[in-house]
Amino acid sequence: MRAIVVGAGIGGLTAALSLRRAGHEVTLVERTSRFAEVGAGIQLAPNANRVLRRLDLLDAVAARAARPNHVSFRTWSDGAEICRYLLGRAVEDTFGAPYLQVHRADLHTALAAAVPPGSVRMNTDVVGIDQDDECACVTTAGGERLRADLVVAADGVRSAARQWLFGADEAVFSRTAAYRALLPAAEVADMDLPDTGIWLGPDRHVVHYWARGGELLNIVAVFKTRAAEESWTAQAEPGEQLREFGGWDPRVRDLLERAGQVFRYGIHTRSPLPRWNTGRVTLLGDSAHAMVPFQAQGAAQAIMDAAVLGDVLVGATPAEVPDALDRYVRRRLAAATSTQNASARAGEDFHLPDGPEALARNARMAAHAAGNVFMPQATAWAADVLDDQAPS
Ligand SMILES: Cc1cc2nc3c(=O)[nH]c(=O)nc-3n(C[C@H](O)[C@H](O)[C@H](O)COP(=O)(O)OP(=O)(O)OC[C@H]3O[C@@H](n4cnc5c(N)ncnc54)[C@H](O)[C@@H]3O)c2cc1C
Repeated sequence: MRAIVVGAGIGGLTAALSLRRAGHEVTLVERTSRFAEVGAGIQLAPNANRVLRRLDLLDAVAARAARPNHVSFRTWSDGAEICRYLLGRAVEDTFGAPYLQVHRADLHTALAAAVPPGSVRMNTDVVGIDQDDECACVTTAGGERLRADLVVAADGVRSAARQWLFGADEAVFSRTAAYRALLPAAEVADMDLPDTGIWLGPDRHVVHYWARGGELLNIVAVFKTRAAEESWTAQAEPGEQLREFGGWDPRVRDLLERAGQVFRYGIHTRSPLPRWNTGRVTLLGDSAHAMVPFQAQGAAQAIMDAAVLGDVLVGATPAEVPDALDRYVRRRLAAATSTQNASARAGEDFHLPDGPEALARNARMAAHAAGNVFMPQATAWAADVLDDQAPS
């Protein structure tokens, strides 16, 4: 069978690898001229890493990752620890794969290196997808029509494919944006930072963690705002982050000051859909379920989509594609939607104003941590989508 995957992000690359593993010929079509990931970190939870292991990529990714031992939640004003959860060996023992923090470029490079170069078409903007009973077709900006038995639209949060398949709907601004920075570890060596820190405050929170074996510190400082562009390269005004986080614990302000020039990313989502597929075409990853990143699960869910997509198509003939895609969506849609909703709820909880509600949240989190060594989103880490019947 021949498949076309539109978009060579984390979701599209993993889908291409999973479909090849399922025995199919894959063409990956990407609008940009070269594989390039942004300069930012990404946390990879065990659910994603079990899939990477099955694709023989976990060792390569882990070799360049940081392996945090814990995450410490703190209050914004004085840094008092609200609670602490385990992320290290205990996670690996319980969930069958490690919790890793990596540079996006390292993950992207590992995925891209596993895709045969001959099956990738860069610099190819897809401007339409159509289908009939026999096959699906992708039209490129250059006027070509590429035919396949299956088309996977992994074209990200601003997915146009989603509109072509299911009608008008746009990316939704979450009314939050993130200042992003990646600092050499040497620049923060004198600071006593936890392995992973999450500082909670009114309308804002700050996350920091190590990447690339501890060589880099990734900082994401989220704040509410009326408008912000969905861009990984838009720069904030100099010092803007310090004004936005005025009055925060001096350690957070120190970090944000050392970050220097930071990027400003407007966080967008896509509303949950009742279905992702029609005939021989399906959505995957952010195009299907872009979520706020407050449980660090967006890419993990895309990776899980890719694993299931490969599994339902093992040994499939072209005629069986529509039914197989129904099975893929049945196995993935509810879980991804529930993770979208849980991530949005986490944001509301993180951003409570000072007062009784925030105090109750802190008490709830402390009680939860006392009885559970893992964060609430560990339910998503535990979700096992791998079909062991599928050939390795
Ligand atoms: C600040 C922030 C922090 C995050 N942290 C985490 C985290 O710690 N852990 C986690 O799991 N997730 C995290 N996420 C979410 C994660 O980044 C996304 O869910 C994930 O990257 C989505 O991958 P994707 O492949 O679906 O889309 P994308 O990565 O957006 O890839 C889409 C690709 O499609 C291409 N494309 C688009 N349109 C076309 C077209 N018409 N023709 C050809 N190509 C096209 C694009 O160029 C792009 O390469 C975070 C997100 C943000 C914003």
